[in-house]
Amino acid sequence: KRMMSSDLQLEDSEIESNIRPLTLEDYIGQTAIKETIRIFIEAAKKRDEPLDHVLLYGPPGLGKTTLAGVIAHEMGVKYKVTSGPAIEKPGDLAAILNNLQPRDILFIDEIHRMSRPIEEVLYSAMEDYCIDIVVGKGPAAKSIRLTLPPFTLIGATTRAGMLSSPLRDRFGIIQRLEYYTDEELAQIVSRTARLLETPIIEEAALEIAKASRGTPRVANRLLKRIRDIALIKYEKNIDFTVCLKALELLNIDRRGLDEIDRRIIQVIATQFKGGPVGLETLAAAIGEEKDTLEDVYEPYLLQQGLLQRTPRGRMLTPYAYECFELGSLSL
Ligand code: ATP
Repeated sequence: KRMMSSDLQLEDSEIESNIRPLTLEDYIGQTAIKETIRIFIEAAKKRDEPLDHVLLYGPPGLGKTTLAGVIAHEMGVKYKVTSGPAIEKPGDLAAILNNLQPRDILFIDEIHRMSRPIEEVLYSAMEDYCIDIVVGKGPAAKSIRLTLPPFTLIGATTRAGMLSSPLRDRFGIIQRLEYYTDEELAQIVSRTARLLETPIIEEAALEIAKASRGTPRVANRLLKRIRDIALIKYEKNIDFTVCLKALELLNIDRRGLDEIDRRIIQVIATQFKGGPVGLETLAAAIGEEKDTLEDVYEPYLLQQGLLQRTPRGRMLTPYAYECFELGSLSL
C-alpha cells in the first residue's frame, strides 16, 4: 500500500487508490519516460542512494501524481504528497522535509505555485540536504543549520516555463508527459473496467478512448459516467451502442471536444472573426478562468490542430474551419 501523508491535498478516494497503477509494468504508455526512469531507479538502488530529483511536466490529468507513486513503489520507499499552494510558510516545508526518512520521496504538485522564500528553502535542501532556519527576531536572531535525510523531490507542473531557472536546474531528471494515444487510453479504460468489475468490449473501450482528449483522468471519468448510464438507463453492461448513446448524452463529440471546447471555437469564430485574440479577452468572453483555459483547454485544441498561437493571440486554423464548417457552426 502506498503511504500517504496526512497533509495530502489531492483527492484520493478508495476507488481512485484502487485503480491507480503501482508498478511501472502497470503504468500504461509514456514508454520513453518509463524506460529512462527504470534505468535511473535501478542505478540508484544499485548504489544504495536516493533517486535524483525528478521534474514531471505536462497538461493536467496525464498521470504525474500516479507516476510519482509508481516511482516510490519501485524504489521501495515511502512518499509524501503536498502541493505548491498548500505550503504557506518556509517553516511548513522545513517540517515536512525534517520528517522524511532517508531515501523517501516528497511529491510537490503545482510546484510552480510556491512562493519565492519557500522555493529558496528548497535550493539547499535539494542540493546539500540541509536547510538554514532563522530563530528569533531582530539582533538576537540567529541562523541554525538543519541536516536533512537524503531524499528525492518529485515536482510536477503544468507550466515548466513558470519555474525559475535556479529551481529547474536542481532537478537531475526532467521529463515531459505526452498525451496518450487512443490505443493506450483504450488499454487504460479496459484495465480500469476490469478493476471496477464492469465488463466492457474492446470497441467500446476504444470509443471512450477517442473521446478522452488523450488524458487518462478523462478516460476513467467517462468510463464511470458511462457505466452509470448503462446501468440506470439501459440496465446492461457497456456495449458499443450504449457507449455511443451515453457519449451523446454527455455532450461529448468523437474528437473528445466538450461544450467548453466548442464554445471556445465558436466564440473565436463569431466574436473575434477567427482571431487573433488575447487569452484574457477570450477567457472573459467564455466565462472561464484564464489559467484553466491555458492549462486544460488550449493544449488539447493546439494538439488537435484546431487552434494556433501567434504573437498577437490565439487564432483558429483552416482545419478548424473545415471541421466545424464555420459560419454555420451550431452548438
Ligand atoms: P496529474 O498529476 O498529471 O494531473 P494524476 O497523476 O493525478 O495526474 P490522474 O490524472 O488523476 O493522475 O489519473 C487519473 C487516473 O488515471 C489515475 O487514478 C490512474 O488510475 C489512471 N492513470 C493515469 N495514468 C495512467 C497510466 N499511465 N496507466 C494507467 N492508468 C493511469
